[in-house]
Amino acid sequence: MPDFTRHKHPVLAVPCGDCRATAGAWCTRPSGHRAADLHLSRRMAADRTFIVQHGPDATIRFDDDLGRW
Ligand SMILES: [Zn+2]
Repeated sequence: MPDFTRHKHPVLAVPCGDCRATAGAWCTRPSGHRAADLHLSRRMAADRTFIVQHGPDATIRFDDDLGRW
């Protein structure tokens, strides 16, 4: 089960179907360089997975005090 609080960004909990980045790895451009932003399809997949796991009313936010999600 993906853990949405483990990574630098919650979306990293799921792999990317777009650039084939694995869970925990940042998205890459076709050239192999690190992408500026995570792919939209990955963000939507992470949203769907998060809702399945935690329900439609759950939200995730970065806790500045704790320094984690
Ligand atoms: Zn990607």
